[in-house]
This record gives sequence, C-alpha cells and structure tokens, in this order.
Amino acid sequence: MAVRCITDFDMYDKRVFCRFDFNVPLDETGAIRDDTRIVRALRTIKFAVNKGAKLILCSHLGRPKGEVKPELSLKPVATRLSELLNQDIKFADDCVGPVVLSMVNSLKRGEIILLENVRFHSEETKNDPEFSAKLAQLADVYINDAFGTAHRAHCSTVGIAKLVKLKGVGLLMKEELENLEKAFSNPKRPVIGIIGGAKVSDKINILKSILARMDMVLIGGGMANTFLKAQGMELGNSMIESDMVSTAQQIIQTAATREGSLCLPRDVVVAPDPNRGSDTRITSVDKIGSQEMALDIGPITVSEFSDHIQKAATIVWNGPMGVFEKDAFKKGTMEIAKAVAASDGFSVVGGGDSVRAVVQAGVSKKISYISTGGGAFMEFLEGKVLPGVAALEM
Ligand code: AMP
Repeated sequence: MAVRCITDFDMYDKRVFCRFDFNVPLDETGAIRDDTRIVRALRTIKFAVNKGAKLILCSHLGRPKGEVKPELSLKPVATRLSELLNQDIKFADDCVGPVVLSMVNSLKRGEIILLENVRFHSEETKNDPEFSAKLAQLADVYINDAFGTAHRAHCSTVGIAKLVKLKGVGLLMKEELENLEKAFSNPKRPVIGIIGGAKVSDKINILKSILARMDMVLIGGGMANTFLKAQGMELGNSMIESDMVSTAQQIIQTAATREGSLCLPRDVVVAPDPNRGSDTRITSVDKIGSQEMALDIGPITVSEFSDHIQKAATIVWNGPMGVFEKDAFKKGTMEIAKAVAASDGFSVVGGGDSVRAVVQAGVSKKISYISTGGGAFMEFLEGKVLPGVAALEM
C-alpha cells in the first residue's frame, strides 16, 4: 500500500493537522491515570515542531456520544502535553467552527493547539461529509498517528483524509504498521500466536486468520473452555459459549489437518467461583468437578506453552490466560508473559489486558514491540485493511 509518512512532507509554515489517540484512562477526580498514549505521540509532535509546522492536535476521549461532557474534555491532556514538551499548548473549546478556524490560522511556526474532544460532535462517528469538510478547513497537511483508532471510519480518521491532498502516517503509526507486518504478514518462522481472553465469539476471526498463517496457536483463558467442551470434556460451571462449541469443533478439525498447529490447556486451576481464591485446586482438564470453574491454566500447560514459545522465532500475543485480575488466577498469565519476554524471538503484544499483564509481570522492556492498539491490533490480526490507513493511500 502506497502511504506516505510525516517525514516525506515539507511542513515549514504549514498547518499540520495530526490525529492522535489521546484516549487516556482517567481516575474519579479526572486526573490522567496512565499517560502512555500521550508519551508515545511526542516523537511525531516534536518532529513537526522542529520542521516549523503549525501544529493542530485532534483526538477523541471516551464515548461522549455526540454530547459535550465536561468530564471527557481533553483539557487535562493539554496540561500533560505542556509539561512533557515544556511548551505552551493552546486549547480550543471546540474542534470546528469560525473561532477554532481563526485560532488555527493565527498559529505561528512551532506553536501547538489541541482541539476539544472530536466526539463531542455526533457527526464524527458517522463519518459525516460536512463535518469532515469543516475539519479539513483546518489542514494543509493531514497526519494520522492514531493507530488505536485506525479501525474506525470516522471523520477525523477517514473523512478528512479523503479531502486533504498532502496526507500520511505519523511516526508511531509507521512503527506500529512496520512491527505488526514483521510479525504477521512476513514473519520469521516458526511463528506462534497466543490467544486468550474471555470469549471465542470476540476472537473467532482472529483465530481463523492466525491458524491459517501461523505455525502454531496456543489457546488459553476462558475461550479455551469452549474448545475443551468441543473435545468432549466436562467443564463444570466454567464460562462456556454453548453457541460457539460447533465453531470450535470446526476449528479443531481444520487444525487437525496440520498436526501440532493448535495447542489447548492440559491442566487448569479451578475454584467454585472467581471470588473463592483460597479454595483452588489444580486438575487435568478431564477431571473438572461439576461445581468447579476453570479460571487459569495449570503448571503443566504453562510449561508446555513456554517450551513452544522458546522455540518460536516470532510470537504474537493477545488475551490473558486466566482471570488475571485476581491474585489466585494470575499465575498462568504472568508465567506466559515471562516466557514471551525470555524468548530470543521477535515478540509483539497487543490489547489492553495483555499489555497490562506484561507490565504487571515487570517484563514490558523485554517485549520486542508493544502495540498501542486494542481493536485496531485485533483487526490487523484478522487480516483486515484498517480504514484509517487505507484512507491515506495516494
Ligand atoms: P478479552 O477482553 O476477551 O481479552 O478477555 C479478558 C477477560 O477474560 C479478563 O477480564 C479475564 O478475567 C477473562 N478471563 C480469562 N480467563 C478466564 C476464564 N478462564 N474464565 C472466565 N474469565 C476469564
């Protein structure tokens, strides 16, 4: 795909409109709980400022559903950006309209303005052409650096890109696409996918896509239960998606044509329910009691999965191996995080829970690449072309 990058443009004295993903988690007081997404935007911002651009920053925050919600204002992001860049950040109370246009047009070279939450307008998520045109009025150059939102066809990610001639990806988006392509489109082999999390139904397309492309897929977490059920196991009170059992069966049959391509848990940590962490036992998957729930992978599975991980040249991980939010059921996820980190292979981790897991395990620095995308990362793994990237094609 022919997509240009911010480094390809002359930005001197130009109004450079940058879409970022500043959708940061806030605490009850409205303070930013984790500024990773802001920090990872800094490279693109500094690059544009150093090239003499007049910088217009745009993002969404949360789901205001087209209403002005003061608690979802981007003002705290402006404050944090200003601290991180040690530079004054102007703030516009809206993202379109005559006042905003005049603020943008009076920017001097190297100055930065952050626009208010673009989702305060309901048109944004509808990819409304008129609203896209209003955003496009603010841009001589359009840069999309919001990988986390690249799977959404909205005005600020797709509509505007169709209207601005000079357009491309920012440095973070470029890095994301290069690393994900390295792991997924053109990987060093053997390549392993580790998929966990709650539901098969959420990740069915990923499972099919990576089973077709990768040498082996390791399945853990709640979704493994549905696969074990499809193999005829009794899972007691474990989380199971009954309507996905036949789909799981089909996937198992497809995988059987390539021996060793699908690996399911052999043992699990069970308890009467997730809140009874003191009442656990480890059992093989064919001996789960009728009143028990499988809530984590067991030590034999950890060891088997880790052996496969050590032999892989490329590893892609999405989704926890158990209810890792609870101490009693986090061991499997933590051990898999450590195994991925210990690998000499190229490792990519994406999705909120998996990223939290590698941070919690204290191994995030040893992962080759941590994606900032949740939904976008998943759609990339499904093999889809992300609309926010496609819209930048020349
Ligand atoms: P997902 O968003 O699909 O990646 O799912 C993440 C959630 O799956 C986490 O909140 C985990 O607590 C949950 N989960 C993982 N394993 C299990 C399990 N064995 N039973 C129930 N929930 C699980």
